[in-house]
Amino acid sequence: MDMLLANKIENVKENIKNWKKEGLTIGLVPTMGALHKGHMSLIKKAKETADKVVVSIFVNPIQFGPNEDFEKYPRTLESDVNICQSLGVDIIFAPAPNEMYGENTLLSNNNLTYVCPPYNVVDMLCGKSRPGHFDGVATVVLKLFNIVQPDFAFFGQKDAQQLFILKKMVKDLNINIKIIGCPIVREKDGLAISSRNIYLSEAERKKALSISQALNKIEQLYKQGISSVDILFDTAVSILDKDIDLEYLEFINYDTFIRTQKAEKNTLVAIAARVGNTRLIDNIIL
Ligand code: AMP
Repeated sequence: MDMLLANKIENVKENIKNWKKEGLTIGLVPTMGALHKGHMSLIKKAKETADKVVVSIFVNPIQFGPNEDFEKYPRTLESDVNICQSLGVDIIFAPAPNEMYGENTLLSNNNLTYVCPPYNVVDMLCGKSRPGHFDGVATVVLKLFNIVQPDFAFFGQKDAQQLFILKKMVKDLNINIKIIGCPIVREKDGLAISSRNIYLSEAERKKALSISQALNKIEQLYKQGISSVDILFDTAVSILDKDIDLEYLEFINYDTFIRTQKAEKNTLVAIAARVGNTRLIDNIIL
């Protein structure tokens, strides 16, 4: 079958129904488009795991705050289609906002049912500076799950808090889908690949490199036996470029999502920082 580019929910559902009848397994890769090597690694993993692969491309308005980059977010459908085609994707689902949310223009919990992930997880890291973001993410992902009914869904470790929240949603709401986390794909020099990297000037890109360097240093010191979060934090901060505006650098137990003072196995070290006007995130798991 040739790849289908669908923007209507019904169109996707029709195909899914036929695949289910044939007993085929389905993998879903949710994205916001502007596809890069990070997304490609998720799609490749999906191809290895499931019989049929659906990639959704949707810049989800309800996960952006009023002063964030929803309008400016890169939209590159033509190149995304080519990438998906070359990887053997079966369906791209690229709906317009009104296909997902109807004609509501002012979306809020006044007129839309939301999924609310646990407050103690949402109140940390990215959720702190992006109120409502993870409600928007969890809501759209549950909608995509209901439309595509996948057996497997693939998410990047790059968004570690998102991955934790979605695993928790699947468990708490008894959703019969296996969430598969995929490792962070980096540029050769270590910069975590992101659709937002195109906002960086050449000089900013160089400064941004100090983010992954700071994380590497933490990992190196941890492997040498240093577990004090205070020491690891201070060393990492000293490596960050002085023009970088650090939003957070946190050490979290990745089983419980509680802050820890002692780095140990399965500690998530997560960072968010602004380089110029661009907000970047990165992390490692010890
Ligand atoms: P986005 O389009 O930014 O919403 O990302 C869609 C999916 O791709 C999410 O599950 C991200 O975690 C994942 N992703 C984005 N960048 C990377 C990367 N550099 N490596 C691995 N996964 C990524």
